[in-house]
Amino acid sequence: MRKNLITRSKHFVLHQLAEGIFAAVAEDGGSAISNSGVIDLGEQILVFDTFLTPQAAIDLRQITIDILKRTPRLVINSHYHNDHIWGNQVFALDAQIVSSTRTRALIATAGAEEFRWYSLNSAQRLESLRAQYQNTKDEQQQKQLLLWIGYYEGLVEALPHLKVCLPSITFSNHLEIHGAKHTSELITFEGAHTENDTVLYLSKEGIVYMSDLLFVGCHPYLADGDPLQLLKALRELNRLDATYFIPGHGPVGRVDDLKLLIEYVEHCLDTAQLLVDKGNAYEDKITELKIAERYVHWQQPQFYKANIRFLCERMSSPNGGKQAH
Ligand SMILES: [Zn+2]
Repeated sequence: MRKNLITRSKHFVLHQLAEGIFAAVAEDGGSAISNSGVIDLGEQILVFDTFLTPQAAIDLRQITIDILKRTPRLVINSHYHNDHIWGNQVFALDAQIVSSTRTRALIATAGAEEFRWYSLNSAQRLESLRAQYQNTKDEQQQKQLLLWIGYYEGLVEALPHLKVCLPSITFSNHLEIHGAKHTSELITFEGAHTENDTVLYLSKEGIVYMSDLLFVGCHPYLADGDPLQLLKALRELNRLDATYFIPGHGPVGRVDDLKLLIEYVEHCLDTAQLLVDKGNAYEDKITELKIAERYVHWQQPQFYKANIRFLCERMSSPNGGKQAH
């Protein structure tokens, strides 16, 4: 199975993974920020996650209509984070939005909180990022800053008209959607990246849309979940006989990318445990910490120390994650 580049927008590149199955991979500098999927089930078109902004979602909807000659009728929200669901409103007029029951509740609570925060702070954040960009000569730093400038530029443009659309159909743990061409299986995991995350599995085709249970070529964000639960989920998904693993962020992955993330989480847990074992003053040691060689070229390097800090705090708390992994 070979993936082909089909088309691109300024927000994403669309790859075909199999007949009627696509991955939309976010472009740096655009305002998609995270990846999406499009699946022609036969009778209807399904979209998995809707990007950070309506601007990027409009392009995905239009490209889907151009290629598949139909409007998407089903949208899946993998988890409540804004960069995966704030394009919902573009599809909501002609599609049903589906998520797990827990994810819907999180969109209505923590997600609404997120919306308030970004409404208040995005313009100021954008100004400060542009100033930082002007003041740095470091190429790596400029690349990271451009990504965040794209993020906040997209939000500043979108927020005056942005509506957080809640899913209209919910399920508990598992849902199968059958079509004449493909059958999608939605599987939820508790507390891995957030309190509740859904992956979409196409078992016959060997394709898994992982959302933020997988990051490829960039540091994951661990601080909203339980790293032990994440390891459990990744090991379970590693046992699926799949060829393509589409991450929430980064290019389309293979099983080796899943294994690399398992190693990364284990490495972060071991590093944090060593720091905590040496005593409580781990903050200074985190400041001095260098990113391990294997991950030094990954994007979002600032998440590395944030992840280690989160794990140290977790391990130091009275009922923190002392259990073996
Ligand atoms: Zn996320």
